[in-house]
This record gives sequence, C-alpha cells and structure tokens, in this order.
Amino acid sequence: MTSPFDILFEPVKIGPVTAPNRFYQVPHCNGFGHRMPQGLAAMRGMKAEGGWGVVCTEEVEIHHSSDLAPYFEGRLWSDDDIPALAQMAEAVHRHGSLAGIELAYNGANAPNLYSRTPALAPRSMGIIGGSGWEPVQSRRLDKEDIRNVRKWHRQAALRAKQAGFDIIYCYAAHGMTLPIQFIIRRYNDRLDEYGGSLENRVRFLRELIEDTKEAVGDTCAVAVRFAVDELLGDDGITHQGEGHDVVAMLAELPDLWDVNVSGWSNDSALSRFAKEGFQEPYIRFVKGLTSKPVVGVGRYTSPDTMLSAVRRGVLDLIGAARPSIADPFLPTKIRENRLEDIRECIGCNICVTGDTRYVPLRCTQNPTMGEEWRRGWHPEIIQPKKSENTILVVGGGPAGLEAARALGQRGYRVTLTEARREPGGRVLQEAALPGLIEWRRVVDWRLTQIEKMKIVELYPSSPMTAPDILESGIPNVLIATGAVYRRDGVGRTLWQPIPGHERALTPDDIFAGKLPSGNVIIYDDDHYVLGGLLAELCAQNSCRVTLLTPAPLVSYWTRFTLEQERVEKRLRSLGVTLLPRHTLACIEPNQVTVTDTITNAESVLPAEGVILVTDRIPNDKLYHQLQPALSAGKIQTLRVIGDAEAPNLIAQAVFSGHLAAREFDEPPAQGTPFRVERPFVP
Ligand code: ADP
Ligand code: SF4
Repeated sequence: MTSPFDILFEPVKIGPVTAPNRFYQVPHCNGFGHRMPQGLAAMRGMKAEGGWGVVCTEEVEIHHSSDLAPYFEGRLWSDDDIPALAQMAEAVHRHGSLAGIELAYNGANAPNLYSRTPALAPRSMGIIGGSGWEPVQSRRLDKEDIRNVRKWHRQAALRAKQAGFDIIYCYAAHGMTLPIQFIIRRYNDRLDEYGGSLENRVRFLRELIEDTKEAVGDTCAVAVRFAVDELLGDDGITHQGEGHDVVAMLAELPDLWDVNVSGWSNDSALSRFAKEGFQEPYIRFVKGLTSKPVVGVGRYTSPDTMLSAVRRGVLDLIGAARPSIADPFLPTKIRENRLEDIRECIGCNICVTGDTRYVPLRCTQNPTMGEEWRRGWHPEIIQPKKSENTILVVGGGPAGLEAARALGQRGYRVTLTEARREPGGRVLQEAALPGLIEWRRVVDWRLTQIEKMKIVELYPSSPMTAPDILESGIPNVLIATGAVYRRDGVGRTLWQPIPGHERALTPDDIFAGKLPSGNVIIYDDDHYVLGGLLAELCAQNSCRVTLLTPAPLVSYWTRFTLEQERVEKRLRSLGVTLLPRHTLACIEPNQVTVTDTITNAESVLPAEGVILVTDRIPNDKLYHQLQPALSAGKIQTLRVIGDAEAPNLIAQAVFSGHLAAREFDEPPAQGTPFRVERPFVP
C-alpha cells in the first residue's frame, strides 16, 4: 500500500554511499562521549534500530590540542581511540543505517584544560568555549600549524574510515571549530592567504574538504556542516551575505551539505522561543545552489512538516537531534502509519543538560534515553508481566501516568486515580505558562497510549484517602501524588520562615488562578524556568515586577538548557527588574525588605504582591499512612514515586514512574542497579 509518507523512505545517494531513507540523526552531544563508549554505542544503535537511516556521532576531537574537557565529546586523537568509536559504527550498521562522524578541530573553542596545550586559532584570542569565560588565550596559527591541522584532520578521517564510518564531516558550524573561525571576520584578522577576502577566509575549509575527499572519498561520503547564519546581523555570517556566498563557492565540493544556524543556543532553540521548522527561512536557499543532498534541522516531529520540507525542495534529508532522542522509533512509527504513537519532543532541552552537566543525556519524554546499555532499556519494548498482580496508581501527574502506562505495557491490570478532573498534574499547570504549550505532549502521549490499553483504567475526579485505597482491595500501591510549594520561603538559601510570609502567594496559588497586581516581588530559590515564567506572566498582566534571586543570574539553571540569556532578554524587554544575589528578609503590607547576599545591605521595595518560588513539600502523607497496612499484610507492596518522593524536574518524575514499572515484580537490585562503565585497567 502506498502512503503519502513513502517519499520519506526513499533512499538518498550521498557521494559513494546511500542512505536507506531520509531520516538523518545529525550530530548531537550526549555526555557519554569518549568516557562511556558502550553507553554511546547502544544509544546510537537504538536510533538505527528505530529507523534513522543515518546516525552520527557528536563532535569528535581530532587532536589533543583541540580538547574540550571537562565536556565529554568523542575523541579520535590516535589509533587507540578507534576501537571505542568502531563499536558505535557497528551498532549503527547492525540495523542497515549509515554511520556519520563529525570530526572537530575546535581552535578557539578549546580551553585545553586537560591537554594543557595552547589552542590554535586564526588569531591569538580569548577562548570562547568551556565556561565561555576562560582566562585563556589561543596561539595564532602559523603556516606550519595550518599544515599540521590539515594533516591531523586527514589522519582522523583515515581513522574514522578504519572505525567503519560511512560519512565523514568537515565541521564548520556553531562558531566552534577552526574552519568557521577562519570564515568569521570577528576571529580572523590575518593578512596572509587565509585572511582578508571571503575567498581567503574560506580557503581552510576548502582545503579540509579536498584533503578529506582525497583521503577517504573513494568509499566515504564527505559532509560539511556549515552555519549559514549566526543571527548576529552585520557582525556575523548571514544567510543573505557571506553564508550564501560560502555555499555558492563550495557548492559541489562536499557530498552533503548539513546546514543550520549558529550558535548552539540558536540551533537548539527551545519550543518557548522557536517552533517546528524554524530554521527553514535561513537554510532554504542552499538547495538552489548545489546539486548535492541537503540536510537541515528544526525540531521536526510532524510527518506532514517533514514531507512538506522535502516536497517543496527545502531539504533532501530530515535532520533531527532532539526528535530522535524523544523518539528513536519516530521513522518506524511513520512507516507503520502509527503517527499517534510518536513521542514528540517538547523542546525543553533537558537532553542538552547531559552535555552541559557532564552526565549521560536524559529526556523528559523518553525515560529510556541514556539507559540503553547500563539498564538494558528499550524505548518500545518492556519485559512482560510476571504475575497476575494488580496495581493501584494514585496520582495522574507525569510520574503516575508513566508508571500506569508502562505497567499496562507489561500487561498488568492497573487502576489509575487522579484527584482532579483532568489528569496531568504539574505538567498541565506548567504548560499553561507563557510559551510552554508543547509541554502538554508529556501528558497527551501518555493518555493516548493508556486509552489504547483496556487493562489500564483511569478514574479522574477521584481523590483517594488511605481508607479508600485499602477499600479498593488492590494489593499493590504506587503513590504519585506530587508536591506543593512551601509557603514560608524556606529553601536551599533561607532556613527560617520569612516574617510575613502569610501575605505571599506560591506558584500553586497562581496555578489555581490567583494573580497579584501592582508592584510584585518574585523570590526565586528554584532557579529553573518557573520564577522567570511567573515574572513574565505577571508583567504581561500589567504588574511592575521585580525578580529576586540568591543566584548570581536569574533562572540560573537555565544556563544548562541554553536558555538563560533568552530568558533574561525577555524579562528585560518586559521591564522586569532583575535583582540577583538577593534574598527576602521580610514581607510587610505593601513592602518587602530585601538583603544583598554579598554585603548584607538591606533595602526596602514597594510590594503589593509577593510570590515565593522555593522548596516544595512532597505529598507523601498517603505513603506514610499506609505503612501500618503494609506491615500488617493488608497490602503487598507500597512505593512512592516522582515529586511525592523527591521533588525534581518533570523528566525525573517520568523516569521515576518508568523505573517503578520496570522494577515491579522484580527482585530488589543488589548494589548499584545499573552497569557502570569503567576505564579498562590492564
Ligand atoms: P509528579 O510530577 O510526581 O507526577 P504531580 O504533582 O505532577 O507529581 O502530579 C501529582 C498528581 O496527583 C496531581 O495531578 C494531583 O492532583 C494528584 N493527586 C494528589 N493527591 C491525590 C490523591 N490523594 N488521590 C488522587 N490523586 C491525587
Ligand atoms: Fe526534546 Fe526535551 Fe527530550 Fe530534549 S529532553 S529530546 S528537548 S523532550
């Protein structure tokens, strides 16, 4: 039978190799890198199993003078690094997909904290990578250095080929690598043949492509990843200007163009700030300049949008990082016409925090992401039930929904009760905040799956008490009742209640429909998105808002999801006053006293309303109330999950629900409940 989506499953020739379809997992960081090659290989292999026709590495350092530590990226410094990467290529090949490798010489992006080698860049300049503010400068490349980098890149390409890769990248994007640093005028003040005119500034990239083709082009495709726009206007590359001209100059040289916008925070824009297909206006010119296949990204999760991008001649291959993380089986689900089963990325960038916090990536939507090797988890397959046990899940937030869904998938009969009329818990509340509508997908996907399972029964508008639970007669109980915000301002910073806190609101009050007016103080000791979003909401409702936080930046933790600057920009544009490094000393009628955390100086601000975004209190009452019943054998098992156990991100609530479902009816783990990758010691 033909399907309108058949076009997405056409093979695409890329130089000497052929991609089996148009689904292309572009390079993405993951926190495994060279440190955990087995975890990495299993994660990439899962994408291939799910139908991604091409699966790429993250950036792979080609030389020790291009060292991105403490971040864990790929490494191909010497032959010794080949076996680890070969595991990934093999895992991808096992499913008939092509393996791509993004060779990276990081130039002015590499602080070289591990190798202690001077970084090499077009000019001597402050390093732009690492924390972004490293007190470290690069050395200006001389001609011999340039010849050396070309040699190292060539050697890396040969090693990549030996490791089994099919597509080998020359990486010139995100401002992160030497070839694009030569092109960007801000970083290149040279007077030699590598500086000045665009032709000269492109020379190094051209040479890398030629070298790579000459070295491995007989059997491997050579791809270029190029940022056609830095979104910096005249200070940077633009898609109408030099971005366009670079593609025109090199049009037929590579076998594949992988094009995007720069820097990384623009490329991986969150759903709050950019919608599906957001890069199209920048990259659509590329296909008009080259006959070579073009891949691009834009958080494509909708098969219709993908189809349209191909049909309209914008892209040949649908590039995806995040959509492939949220659903490694996205291509398979399209092929099997199971569109409602696609677990759509919500654009929250929790996956990015794998890289930015140096741990294996995790995903809000896909709790199995990063767990493929160490826990043996598969995103679509789960071990079948081991008994006829029945389970009562109390609370239909992300933790309860995921637990019920995954238990149902195992074949258990599940009763899911939710106090409110609509299930979804905190997700529904947070998704109603400005720009977060796509977060609802966490709930929608789970409800769609649960609806299909006859054995999972959902009872909304059913608040449960401990006697209700015992009366139900269901012997296994999961408590997933979430958490509430503290009303007294206590958190990681303040350990005693704020005098006058009775006058303040909490996020729960706002979710319940209360909104302050006039001068509003928001005290944020949570540091993720909520404080900033409530400030935005109040500002949109004509309040004069001050956002106060003990952290050195507002919404500090959003640095790790690449959104802090955008959050701050938005708040400033809304006229919100930002007061970092301050706490709240006391709340009085129409005013508050605030304390500078560095000097202890106090000042008084007008305040008709105060919102406290601080610690949460787990709703674990039922768990404690049921302990005697458990001891007395009136129920068989009792477990508390999600925010009711320990308040955390939505991603962790989903994970906690999934873990509880996987562990149900299993013997308790002895020791560490997952495999740990350790460096091999002979
Ligand atoms: P989590 O993130 O851990 O899933 P949430 O706060 O998002 O936590 O969700 C908890 C859900 O549990 C909320 O929808 C809440 O209405 C529901 N809930 C809380 N207490 C009860 C109860 N006693 N009976 C049924 N549902 C409850
Ligand atoms: Fe998408 Fe969020 Fe998952 Fe990343 S963590 S893939 S942005 S849902």
